Amino acid sequence: MPCTAPLALPTASSTPPATRQRWAGGVVAISLSLLSACSTVPGTLNYIAPPAQPEAATGNTAKPGWATRRYAVAAANPLATDAGRQVLAAGGSAIDAAIAVQMVLALVEPQSSGIGGGAFLLHFDGKVTQAFDGRETAPAGATPGLFLDASGQPLKFADAVVGGRSVGAPGAVAMLAQAHARHGKMPWAQLFQPAISLATQGFAISPRMAALLAADPHLKKDPVAAAYFYDSTGKPWPAGHLLRNPELAAVLQGIATRGPSGLLQGEVGEAIARKVQNHPTNPGSLSTRDLATYRPLVREPLCFDYDAAARPVRICGMPPPSSGAIAIGQILRMLDSTPASTLPLAQGLPTADWLHLYTEASRLAFADRGQYLGDPAFVQAPAGNWASLLAPAYLRSRAAQIDSSPTGKSIQMALPGQPGGTPLSYAPMPDQTEYGTSHISVVDAYGNAVAITTTIEDAWGSRQMVNRGVGLAGGFLLNNQLTDFSFSPTGGDGRPVANRVEPGKRPRSSMSPTLVFDKATGELLISGGSPGGALIIHFTAKTLYGMLHWGLNAQQAIDLPNFGSLNGPTLLEANRFSPATVQALKNRSHTVLEVPMASGLQAIERTPTGFFGGADPRREGIVLGD
Ligand code: GLU
Repeated sequence: MPCTAPLALPTASSTPPATRQRWAGGVVAISLSLLSACSTVPGTLNYIAPPAQPEAATGNTAKPGWATRRYAVAAANPLATDAGRQVLAAGGSAIDAAIAVQMVLALVEPQSSGIGGGAFLLHFDGKVTQAFDGRETAPAGATPGLFLDASGQPLKFADAVVGGRSVGAPGAVAMLAQAHARHGKMPWAQLFQPAISLATQGFAISPRMAALLAADPHLKKDPVAAAYFYDSTGKPWPAGHLLRNPELAAVLQGIATRGPSGLLQGEVGEAIARKVQNHPTNPGSLSTRDLATYRPLVREPLCFDYDAAARPVRICGMPPPSSGAIAIGQILRMLDSTPASTLPLAQGLPTADWLHLYTEASRLAFADRGQYLGDPAFVQAPAGNWASLLAPAYLRSRAAQIDSSPTGKSIQMALPGQPGGTPLSYAPMPDQTEYGTSHISVVDAYGNAVAITTTIEDAWGSRQMVNRGVGLAGGFLLNNQLTDFSFSPTGGDGRPVANRVEPGKRPRSSMSPTLVFDKATGELLISGGSPGGALIIHFTAKTLYGMLHWGLNAQQAIDLPNFGSLNGPTLLEANRFSPATVQALKNRSHTVLEVPMASGLQAIERTPTGFFGGADPRREGIVLGD
């Protein structure tokens, strides 16, 4: 094999000092092994696991941002980011890198996403943006009363989540295969090399994974998970413990060879259905037929024009069943009808006056979200078109409810609007808990860009770990995505909730993978997104606002404290705002809750010299590239 193109390693320009230090052992060792092996040809991945695995950060760790010239990948775990970087360095495209990253995340960040979950992906090929929908579907046997108890009351969240009941047909792998068929450059099977080799050799458990393991009361009740994540005395493995997952390696090899049918059919599909249906106390109905008939969808992205301070842009996101792009668009556009853009940051923080306007716009947007949003195959868009929710005249009339005078009071809880005069045929869905998830952004050297948000829903999903039973340890976790449906199928007045459970339906999501373009030239400016349940909408909107209005770079915008409202109290990230700001909001009749708001934002922006990426200081992500 000719020796032409050595893998690019993290460079000084792409690697911040802290990471450079953490990577030092790995860089030297990788360089030496390349000198000796030197078998890389362009377009071929010869994955090399970093011999000294980078130590992931925990808690709140300042991140400097990463400048690159030709390509960049941002993900929630350093091993996953590095796998994506190796794919890009070997000549892979953005979707190639995203697939390698996702498969490594399934191993090293199993609490958040994986082959047992679903994902939304936006792809830009230099001209056209496409939205790939790999959302889970409800089994054919699911009924609107799936999450009601015997007396017709909604189940408690944990009772709904843990077991087989909450598991939908996982769509991430089939969706990635569909996107790869259109935009991949490297062979599908090669993209599984990094995850297979790390699963075989072992990876060091990250501090965040260890902390979430220690905190979860349900995972150890599953015998497969108990044998994999805990020692023989039942103690969770600590950070730094080398964990091997030979069962996952074998399943990934099957998917690498056979495509999505390696997951959704045959012995793995049967093992999934068995796991769900045979749960001892909380079984579900997901069947081998539900799995074999799962289909990912390609959708038109939901795009809207937006006059940012710097320049007019076009923002594209996921259409329904995600509520993300519509809610973000509503908030940003309603703010335009207020004095928000005249209110700069003060000492680097949003002011009480600005937070008042933002959270009021949020209340109005979340009222519409609860009223209208659901799977478009089952739920009619208001006035026949989801764009009615973003119509400037409609949003101006909605924003008229915001009292922007200096002493203006909060509306506290907004009612849904009626875009296009739509009658309110659905009952609003009450707010429900959501957690988990991971975001990946990639830009490649060919002009493609990807934003993918991927999830098994709650941290550790349904706590059901699938293992085929051939004697290999480990496996993969199944999602609990069906709990993103409304637990109550109807409102108090008997009207149906748009996002109720129905067979074959996709649950409403908040995931907001986002691409931003220069409106005049069509050039890609930003790829970004976050985990965080319904708060994803606020985390992403904050980052966009910081970059587009306050002139911050991706890292600075991600670093801003989090805030928002789900159409109730005003939520502020704990310990980030001054008592004076909190009091000023209370004076305007906001009920303020200061709470942890652990976003996991990742964003990459175009700069005059290439790209600049940011990763959330609240989690373990990094950006790498060249
Ligand atoms: N399941 C959620 C959704 O699809 C995401 C959960 C999370 O990010 O925490 O919107």
